[in-house]
Amino acid sequence: MFDYHVHTEFSVDCKVPMVDSCRAAIAAGVTEIAFTDHVDSQPSDMGYGYYRAEDYFRSLESARAEFGDRLTVLAGAEVDFHTDTAADVERFMAQYGREYDFVIGSVHYGAGGAIIFPEVFGGRTLDDVFLPYFDQVEAAVATGWFDSIGHLDIPKRYAPRTHRTYDPLVYRDRLNEVFATMIEKGVAFEINTSGLRQAPKTSMPGPAVVRWYAEAGGKRITTGTDSHAAQTVGAGIAKTLDMLELCGIDAVASFRRRSLRLVPIADLRPALQRAQA
Ligand SMILES: [Zn+2]
Ligand SMILES: [Zn+2]
Repeated sequence: MFDYHVHTEFSVDCKVPMVDSCRAAIAAGVTEIAFTDHVDSQPSDMGYGYYRAEDYFRSLESARAEFGDRLTVLAGAEVDFHTDTAADVERFMAQYGREYDFVIGSVHYGAGGAIIFPEVFGGRTLDDVFLPYFDQVEAAVATGWFDSIGHLDIPKRYAPRTHRTYDPLVYRDRLNEVFATMIEKGVAFEINTSGLRQAPKTSMPGPAVVRWYAEAGGKRITTGTDSHAAQTVGAGIAKTLDMLELCGIDAVASFRRRSLRLVPIADLRPALQRAQA
């Protein structure tokens, strides 16, 4: 099992040392973990300037030294993308991009530079939030800077009760355009299992969206828990592999030094069964 979205103390909203998550990953049957701390790009974000790349890589090396014989520990990042801050993101990627195994591009800010939290829905319709959000996602894909797109329909995570009517079918045509760009650029998206633990009660994105992507010819999917606590490392990944197979995806993406290899889900089953036994 691959958990390719895990935060550590190098993220502003997380206190967990890497070694704690490595122990939890091994216990949960995770075989590859990517530590993907936030690289925040919006100057107004509380995490802006928080990330320290050199210290991150030092900590990663010591986690590898301690757990490398039992767990593949990958250098990752979750880089916040918005067209307003693209120049800063480009600078970061030019400086550090080659140092990582795997880089997620995530959109956390939408129209007018507003962060996608519940407040953003005040006075807005779902379309007002989702359409500019998908524009940003597509722009992130088009840069070619990222290996995978984070939490593809994240606005649903923060939708307040008044807006709990999200139906991906409404955005199917727009999603298909985004998928075409992803496939052309060779950019994956992740199944982010945190949605299963939170209000949407479904992953981001959920099965319908995955099926449309598979029907469009897409094959590149990564799996991640978006853990900010050690106890959720690996959570929902086994279930996600079942879901992917049902939706017509028979492999998950693994990365080394930014290069992708598709691993058949069938090959992951024996380790999974051992972990669950
Ligand atoms: Zn994120
Ligand atoms: Zn995250």
